[in-house]
Amino acid sequence: MSGTQQIRTGIIGLGAMGIGMARTLAAKGFAVAAFDLSDAALTRAADAGAAPMPSAADVFGAADIIVLSLPAAHHVEAVIAEAVNAGHLAQGAAPRIVIDTSTSEAEISRRLAATLDSADHGFVDAPVSGGPSGAAAGTLAMMLGGADAHVARAMPVLEALGQKIVHVGPSGAGNVAKLVNNMLVASHMVTTLEAMKLAEASGVSAEDALRVVNSATGRSAISEIHFPNWVLPRSFDSGFSTGLMRKDVRLALEMAAEKGCALPLADLVAQLWSEERSGLSDSDDFMLMGDPQAGRFERGKG
Ligand code: NAD
Repeated sequence: MSGTQQIRTGIIGLGAMGIGMARTLAAKGFAVAAFDLSDAALTRAADAGAAPMPSAADVFGAADIIVLSLPAAHHVEAVIAEAVNAGHLAQGAAPRIVIDTSTSEAEISRRLAATLDSADHGFVDAPVSGGPSGAAAGTLAMMLGGADAHVARAMPVLEALGQKIVHVGPSGAGNVAKLVNNMLVASHMVTTLEAMKLAEASGVSAEDALRVVNSATGRSAISEIHFPNWVLPRSFDSGFSTGLMRKDVRLALEMAAEKGCALPLADLVAQLWSEERSGLSDSDDFMLMGDPQAGRFERGKG
């Protein structure tokens, strides 16, 4: 049995990201116990080589390193509370490391890390970038917050999931870095749409304008990856929802308010992403923001 196969892993939250991570861990030889509230997701997990479990607590019972991929911080708190109540995170229980890949909140990660640490378990905030395709390929970018010893124990699993792994600092630092990153993503979606609209209105196609931008100084991941793959072909199926994008902008602005940081452009970006201004619902793919044919933000249209 290889070192990898001796590590029992678990994954809770098998949505667009979690299912890819489950598949990656199983393909790399880890035992993977998996749970999601959705039965369809559990069936997909079984097809991906993971063992479906009846509850989140059962995943903690079957694994030493547990990966969370949940919508928001309150889901993370609920799952940890379930594991605590089941005794899996008690003092004296087999030491466990939680890797929370959800885009969550620094304060909550710090609190959970302190609680787990006091009982000799570990919690690493490890939000990710790279989308469902990066999760399925094991090529995510991961930004970590946590104690060195916990990060070291988590590393075999982190290395299986990610290609670029940055240990940013203590607990919560990964969450801060992720929110800063996604505040830029939300802004770049709007600025790139505006640039493409201006180019087309002035007689240069979006394709031609992007070819220039992507070899010049205006480029970003949004112009290099997202527009060519999901906006120009009009598939709008990147696997990241508008609701999750809104959550990230809201959390970044809450962090700014707490720290007394004035972010006038981010304030405007948050308004533009609102349902009222953008016309997008939470379940829409966030790539729809870039649709040049939607007439978004035209006079009299939000
Ligand atoms: P998703 O909505 O597709 O999946 C979330 C899953 O969590 C769902 O299957 C849901 O049933 C499950 N869930 C909710 N509460 C649960 C609970 N208490 N117990 C078990 N399962 C529960 O979301 P996603 O796109 O996979 O994103 C997951 C996280 O990763 C989010 O925090 C998101 O912000 C972040 N993220 C997403 C992307 C992306 O491109 N989709 C990229 C980077 C980060």
